Amino acid sequence: MSNQLALQMLAKRGVTLNDIAEIVLTLQMPYNNTLTKEECAESVLAVLNKREVQFTLYTGIALDELAERKLLPHPLQAIMEHDEPLFGVDETLALGIVHVYGMIGLTSFGYLDKKKMGIIRELNNHDTSIHVFLDDLVAGVAAAASARIAHQNKNVMEYLSKQSEAADI
Ligand code: MG
Repeated sequence: MSNQLALQMLAKRGVTLNDIAEIVLTLQMPYNNTLTKEECAESVLAVLNKREVQFTLYTGIALDELAERKLLPHPLQAIMEHDEPLFGVDETLALGIVHVYGMIGLTSFGYLDKKKMGIIRELNNHDTSIHVFLDDLVAGVAAAASARIAHQNKNVMEYLSKQSEAADI
């Protein structure tokens, strides 16, 4: 599967499929109380199958790793070491993942950026590793996977089928 490298890179940085699926489940539970963590994990895998998502992950993770090895040029190295709140490029990069699934992805991403639940909080509070990009990338993948589930909502499907029935008349 084409998502294997992305999963390996995430695992190397301390993030598992289960960690992201748990966030997706928390986001979607209020709207779908029969949803399982396995379905959430499937949605995360589908998001990770997209090449543009994979390229975004590779880029952000590489920058975090280069910063840990002190290989970035000035002033980027210092900005990354301090996780400068005004930097914003980490969120901008992660938005590339979120945009794939429209407005629900965007609002969920904003919510996760503020709430920092689960593994996102752990990454953000880690004091020996640099996760400037990774916390936002994980939030982006979780928000996209959550929006993907929301878009499969049965009610919407029913409205659409009713409309096409009406059009047939
Ligand atoms: Mg960040």
